[in-house]
Amino acid sequence: MKNKILVTGGAGYIGTHTCIALHEAGYEIVVYDNLSNSSREAINRVSNLIGQPIEFIKGDIRDAEAMRNVFSSHHFFGVIHFAGLKAVGESVAKPLLYYNNNVSGTITLLEIMAEYGVKNLVFSSSATVYGDPETLPIDENSKRSCTNPYGQSKLAVEYILEDLTVSDNSWSLIALRYFNPVGAHSSGQIGEDPNDVPNNLMPYISQVAVGKLDKLNIFGNDYPTVDGTGVRDFIHVTDLAQGHVAALNYLEGQINTGKRDSVGFLPINLGTGKGTSVLELVTAFSKVSGQPIPYKFAERRAGDIASCYASADKAKNLLDWQAKLSITDMCQDSWRWQRMNPNGYYIK
Ligand code: NAD
Ligand code: UDP
Repeated sequence: MKNKILVTGGAGYIGTHTCIALHEAGYEIVVYDNLSNSSREAINRVSNLIGQPIEFIKGDIRDAEAMRNVFSSHHFFGVIHFAGLKAVGESVAKPLLYYNNNVSGTITLLEIMAEYGVKNLVFSSSATVYGDPETLPIDENSKRSCTNPYGQSKLAVEYILEDLTVSDNSWSLIALRYFNPVGAHSSGQIGEDPNDVPNNLMPYISQVAVGKLDKLNIFGNDYPTVDGTGVRDFIHVTDLAQGHVAALNYLEGQINTGKRDSVGFLPINLGTGKGTSVLELVTAFSKVSGQPIPYKFAERRAGDIASCYASADKAKNLLDWQAKLSITDMCQDSWRWQRMNPNGYYIK
């Protein structure tokens, strides 16, 4: 058995997939989640998939006492920190909620980690910190700028992590900047389960395919892209989960070889390096599912950019990680999850 890891937000979409990958890689995990955007059922399914119960604690990262209880009863090597709110539109309507949850919550977590001498962290950042990129593919040195409170909260946490490592170089803090996570576990047992009508493209397409939604609105067909629709770097959530294992392995490697002080704040893109347009994804999904995906072109969505895809070199060179799964795999797995769970996890 390898080191023990605290997974905040481990009941969520990316967290559940990462719990499986961590377990398969031999890590012991403790999940801490307030279930504000997930369900107990997701944890039950992860337990079934790994064939043993998961240690789950229901709690909020802003609750310092509850966190102290967790840290005092476990010896963690590090934390993978998924807990956060993620809806861009909601963040515009409720900025205080987003700053409180995502920024204050992370500060509380870091304070408790400092108290208990746990100084290794993998943080869920986002390609959104790059705003409208000046050049493509986007590498980690690109300028950062955000236009909405959700993005600002991610950027604020990145700055906090950076400052922390300047103040004390025994912190090792990796910010994984995810591009567009899609897909689901190949078993069809866990996947993305939006509460309302999905904001994101892939869950929207799958709900159209399964007949829950009538048609997809494609936001903009006049972008300077291959077919006029937006281009994104879609990455399979299973690949993304493996990226977290690779990040932890990297941290362990640095520490075991006496290079703890050299990690500092390390931002790393997790993307495939390939751009796919909205229309290309619709066509791929339709082919895989055998279902028509009716769509209409609509106005551009405020705040959207034309194209966004990663330079994935740093992850390959430093973490020895690269995405393996294709757009077809992403569509197949999203479709299997959607078909098997037309109403998500049911139990909220
Ligand atoms: P998710 O909503 O499915 O998972 C987040 C989990 O955190 C949920 O289970 C939620 O209940 C929990 N949570 C939220 N606030 C909490 C709090 N205060 N205390 C304890 N638990 C709390 O989201 P996801 O898609 O799995 O995303 C995970 C992380 O990755 C988030 O930080 C998100 O911002 C980031 N991210 C996601 C995407 C994406 O497209 N899914 C892209 C880039 C970055
Ligand atoms: N999109 C769309 N219709 C939708 C949802 C999204 O046309 O119902 C487009 C969106 O304009 C963008 C791409 O799909 O070009 C990816 O959007 P998503 O919200 O999934 O991720 P984002 O890149 O905005 O984080």
